[in-house]
Amino acid sequence: MGPTTEPTVNDGLPKKMRALQYSKPRDFKVVEIDMPDLGEEDVLVKISACGVCGTDLHFHEGEFMAKFPLIPGHEAAGVVVAIGRRVTTVAVGDRVVADPMEPCRSCFYCVRDQGLLCENMSGYGGTVPGGMAEYCRYPARHVYPIGDLPSLEAVLIEPAACASHGIERMSPKVGSTVLLFGCGPTGMLLAQLLRQNGAANLTIASKGGPKLDLARQLDLADSYVCISDDNPSEDMKAIKTANPHGFDIVVEATGASSVLEQSIFYVRKGGTLVVYGVYDDAAKVAWPPSRIWTYEITVLASFCSTLKFPVVLEYVKTKKLNLKGIVNKTYRIEEWAECLEAVRKQQVVKAAIVFD
Ligand SMILES: [Zn+2]
Ligand SMILES: [Zn+2]
Repeated sequence: MGPTTEPTVNDGLPKKMRALQYSKPRDFKVVEIDMPDLGEEDVLVKISACGVCGTDLHFHEGEFMAKFPLIPGHEAAGVVVAIGRRVTTVAVGDRVVADPMEPCRSCFYCVRDQGLLCENMSGYGGTVPGGMAEYCRYPARHVYPIGDLPSLEAVLIEPAACASHGIERMSPKVGSTVLLFGCGPTGMLLAQLLRQNGAANLTIASKGGPKLDLARQLDLADSYVCISDDNPSEDMKAIKTANPHGFDIVVEATGASSVLEQSIFYVRKGGTLVVYGVYDDAAKVAWPPSRIWTYEITVLASFCSTLKFPVVLEYVKTKKLNLKGIVNKTYRIEEWAECLEAVRKQQVVKAAIVFD
């Protein structure tokens, strides 16, 4: 349904809202704009928090699926304040998270049940207005009630949905040994899901800093390797020494192509390399095909996710995902420049934008 009809419940809602808007790559400001129109199958969500992730840095540069003008924000949580006439699945007052990926359902891939690969994907916060605004419109089928889950934990449902898709892609065998490069928020979610889905022995390798500290504190892995800035090759060598046969699965979740290039040499014979990070469009890697061939290595990727929110919410409901403390810094939309800087310099574990 397009945004054609008036919302069913709009009493007391303002006519205008504040939003963070890009007019073109790198050119953003906080603007006051009209409230979104609501179709009869839509809901209006008053945003309470919206996670910031590496993808937003790429949108900032105009990379990826970014369409301008752009209101970013694809990891939003909030409260339903209005619903369209035909909405029955959620009610005004429900606290919800929103799945940002909306396949077109009619392209070559969608009709083959591969919506994730949709050629006309709409992404809230990428191609259509997202959650870095006081309010956001979503189709009702894209929002999921979260009960009393705190908003700063709820913003991790979206990255966890992507992680759960990643786990399905790599489908670890029972008892797998896994090496995970990177322990950003996404890595932390992957780690938790990996250990509950086949990984018997998980090693996290990461630069030192608040992220690795938190990973240890949350007890996310069986061993940790700190890759120092001074002598990274020594630390990388130490992984080899401790694991002479390599790993069944190696996940590259740093987004650094240099690490991805190295990763292949840690995969054991018959193993799998997972390309999980978000890389610069211009990044390239060089791998010896002979290695891939003689080792029969499977190289696979996990891009994002569709329809994985219910899966993640099941883990959350049963307290099998620890989301507490991962968001460790919050900003207002007016502080976007500062927020971007902190995310870029990795001074925060995970940042979120918050609203009143
Ligand atoms: Zn994200
Ligand atoms: Zn499609």
